[in-house]
Amino acid sequence: MEIQQNVPLAPLTTLGVGGDARFFARAASAIDVEEAVAFSREENLPLFVLGGGSNVVVADQGWNGLALQVGIPGIAGAGLGIFHVGAGVDWDSFVAHAVSQNCAGIECLSGIPGSVGGTPVQNVGAYGQEVSETITSVVAFDLSENRIRELTNTDCGFSYRASVFNTNWRGRYIILRATFALEPHGKPRLQYADLQKYFAGRDALPSLADTRTAVLRIRAGKGMLITPGDPDSRSAGSFFKNPVLTAAAHAELLGRAAQQHLKVPTYPALAQQHKVSAAWLVENSGFNKGYSRGHVGISTKHALALVNRDGATAAEIVALKEEIQERVALAWGIHLEPEPVFVGF
Ligand SMILES: Cc1cc2nc3c(=O)[nH]c(=O)nc-3n(C[C@H](O)[C@H](O)[C@H](O)COP(=O)(O)OP(=O)(O)OC[C@H]3O[C@@H](n4cnc5c(N)ncnc54)[C@H](O)[C@@H]3O)c2cc1C
Repeated sequence: MEIQQNVPLAPLTTLGVGGDARFFARAASAIDVEEAVAFSREENLPLFVLGGGSNVVVADQGWNGLALQVGIPGIAGAGLGIFHVGAGVDWDSFVAHAVSQNCAGIECLSGIPGSVGGTPVQNVGAYGQEVSETITSVVAFDLSENRIRELTNTDCGFSYRASVFNTNWRGRYIILRATFALEPHGKPRLQYADLQKYFAGRDALPSLADTRTAVLRIRAGKGMLITPGDPDSRSAGSFFKNPVLTAAAHAELLGRAAQQHLKVPTYPALAQQHKVSAAWLVENSGFNKGYSRGHVGISTKHALALVNRDGATAAEIVALKEEIQERVALAWGIHLEPEPVFVGF
């Protein structure tokens, strides 16, 4: 495995900002991963694991350590809807493969960029599905114990946009492979309002392939599909998580909104909590889709996507993030939590 020096990271991310990695390696196997870990230890370098770069903001000064991109390939079908998938496989290629095999469980996650290894990290979800529903185990290199181990679904500690990989054990594991249990000949999940609207008036149950096509079209319409030539897709996806509020905090927010004759879109969450729309909060704090500030702005199609309008710096992205957080806090008393991972700040 080649270890390169001074490699620009911006082109390896969907947002396209940030500086160089002092050292960079692409691991095609578990052995490569172990070799890269040994190198970073010998040279006393901090290690950052990169997947498809679709959920990261790299600092303008870059990463003063080793950036290790996990490129482990392979989709192995193990019968009855079980798939062992290399962490480096492009996520949407795996979804396309599963749908072509008529296996249900991830069709609503069509069109999400990035790698398979990136999906457990924030328990990727969209249109009524999350990977935590179908991942049965994850094989990872454990940097604390210096060995490869298998984590069960429970070990992964999944919740909304979270897992042990981005909370308690952030930086401890390098994911090498994930196993998914999908449902052969299962029905598509059509819970989400956008999907119900898309298929309204249709008698026959849509197939998994129809559902995948619908999700891809809906995503493209929101700039949430990486589309060459669509400047709104030069983003890190949703920049803020939907806040999850206690019943009391939610009631207070509804009260504030009612004074202005506004209604806050709310979704159910676990343990009597309420998930409110971050996009609504942004749009009701003085920002509109298409808002611009220097080389950065808000997508013209989705209030939650911060976009690089060409030649942006990471500092400009961070300044816009802070402006949004301040105005939402002032208007609604809510702190918006960013979704992407900040590298080298
Ligand atoms: C247009 C667009 C739309 C999006 N839509 C959605 C959506 O609908 N739902 C959603 O949940 N997300 C969405 N995202 C966010 C992003 O695509 C997902 O979070 C994706 O799973 C990130 O994977 P990645 O391989 O690109 O990870 P990266 O961005 O490279 O890394 C993200 C984090 O995961 C860690 N990581 C990556 N690979 C590994 C590995 N092998 N082992 C250990 N750690 C690893 C990194 O260290 C980092 O902390 C969207 C992004 C974009 C740009």
